[in-house]
Amino acid sequence: MADKIEQPYLYRQHELVEPDWTRFSGWAGVTSQQWADVQWQRAHCVKNIKQLKELMGDLLTDAFYADLERDQAERATMSMLVTPQMMNTMVSEMTWADGVMPKAGADYTAAFYADPVRRYMLPVLSDRREQWSSHPYATRDSLHEHDMWATEGLTHRYPTKVLAELLPTCPQYCGHCTRMDLVGNSTPQVIKLKLAGKPMDRQEAMLDYIRNTPTVRDVVVSGGDVANMPWKNLEAFLDKVIEIPNIRDIRLATKALMGLPQHWLAPDTVAGVERVATKARQSGVGLAIHTHVNHAQSVTPLVADAAKAMLAAGVRDVRNQGVLMRGSTPAPRTSSTSALR
Ligand code: SF4
Repeated sequence: MADKIEQPYLYRQHELVEPDWTRFSGWAGVTSQQWADVQWQRAHCVKNIKQLKELMGDLLTDAFYADLERDQAERATMSMLVTPQMMNTMVSEMTWADGVMPKAGADYTAAFYADPVRRYMLPVLSDRREQWSSHPYATRDSLHEHDMWATEGLTHRYPTKVLAELLPTCPQYCGHCTRMDLVGNSTPQVIKLKLAGKPMDRQEAMLDYIRNTPTVRDVVVSGGDVANMPWKNLEAFLDKVIEIPNIRDIRLATKALMGLPQHWLAPDTVAGVERVATKARQSGVGLAIHTHVNHAQSVTPLVADAAKAMLAAGVRDVRNQGVLMRGSTPAPRTSSTSALR
């Protein structure tokens, strides 16, 4: 009899928890109403070391900040931008050993260093391998998306699919971003490419290309992150894509479903998604959302609510495309629910 083959992954269902943001001295007085408000979230993102210190109080040691500062000066390809929602999932109740928050100072800093979300949202110099400060094949445009632009911002690589990069910004910036060539603010290491065309002209050129290329049936509408595009502009673009007869699938790319679920829960956005999903369904077009969750601890009740709101609004699927990263991706046998709970 053949050797028994064990299942490589152990999937467990966990109760979702919204970590208590008042554990951070900088957010001790923040109410649930403020937390649920997308404008409050956007206005209180952590964008620099000074803001991180103000938020964390005495939790982290000076050595951590020095490590972070050196990475920003010498290695970082993305500038710092972390939403409160994402900050709140680092070293949270979900991760505390024995249910007790690590003590401020050395204990908390050690837990922060080890945190899988911190590792890719707030990378520090000591995270980098000395022999490979970055992946050996990493380049400004590692996936050669720019090299394959059919029109500015529209990548046509596979025969039936195109990628439309509508904007170069996101509500959060990930240290590993493979679109670092274009997305986000410049850093000392990477002066970002600037889109030359006006947004409307670029969009019209993309639409013309898709209309004139009948083999294309699937459009990934991305950026950046579509959550940073004013909804009326995004809806106008999507309406035009749906009307192109050769289009059967549209995928909206938004890490913000996890990083800023408050955006996708805002009533105006939900109503807008409902209009687009209805039109897509009536036209025989599948509308899906692709999000980007790299670790299960990022999935909180608010994230689940946002996913459910999108499905209820008529989106056919909410799918996840996580990135595998040393130190952020759970080992299969130790931490089983890899990304989505
Ligand atoms: S959300 Fe996506 S596009 Fe934006 S920084 Fe992160 S990986 Fe890059």
